[in-house]
Amino acid sequence: MGLKSGMDMAPYQVSLDWIDRQQKAMVNQVEAWSRVNSGSHNLPGLADMGAKVTEAFSALDGDFESIALPPSSHVTPSGDLEPLPLGPVYRFQKRPDAKRRVLLTGHLDTVFAKDSPFQAPRWLDDTILNGPGVADMKGGLIVMLYALLAVERSGLADDLGWEVLISSDEEIGSIGSAAILTERAPHAHIGLTYEPALADGTLAGPRKGSGNFSIVVRGRAAHAGRAFHEAGMPLWPWPR
Ligand SMILES: [Zn+2]
Repeated sequence: MGLKSGMDMAPYQVSLDWIDRQQKAMVNQVEAWSRVNSGSHNLPGLADMGAKVTEAFSALDGDFESIALPPSSHVTPSGDLEPLPLGPVYRFQKRPDAKRRVLLTGHLDTVFAKDSPFQAPRWLDDTILNGPGVADMKGGLIVMLYALLAVERSGLADDLGWEVLISSDEEIGSIGSAAILTERAPHAHIGLTYEPALADGTLAGPRKGSGNFSIVVRGRAAHAGRAFHEAGMPLWPWPR
């Protein structure tokens, strides 16, 4: 991403150079995280991924909390309502009383279920890594982590409070974590979420929202031509 021209980068150059030197470690980490299946419904995989993220973010030396969510519910193919267990929200924060406060959000779940054929990363060429969650958004979590590490070691962090919320249910509509995000957002001056940029590098901004709908239709199986009486209609006279 290009930085604004004319901006005096001198105070940040040491940090930017440090970030450049972390590239190999960052790429190795995204490859390793991509191998962990963390489909939104794979609770053991989400826990495994959560442990890896927690360990990595512990390098920031902030406060940590894992917030368990009550189960949501979903409609089964037979039309019944069934509880839907959700993975936790991971919360990291530092200097919550600072003058300037930012909220950084992300998710560790992916759309690839445990039985999806897409489970491992592979290099398409020397620069493009293709794997589950590489862009959306295990890679984003690593960008967030290294940005915070750079700030923390820069000497510019004293006035900056940050809070990180990483959810496990974003790909199914943030059905459990939305309430926590809504509650925490007003405590920060700005918020950033680490979704991938658009194809031309533009930062992804707002979206109109999303919703999940289930429609349950109940009836009786029958054939419209040969066995319509099985649906409860009389053979004759036909209803008008
Ligand atoms: Zn995403």
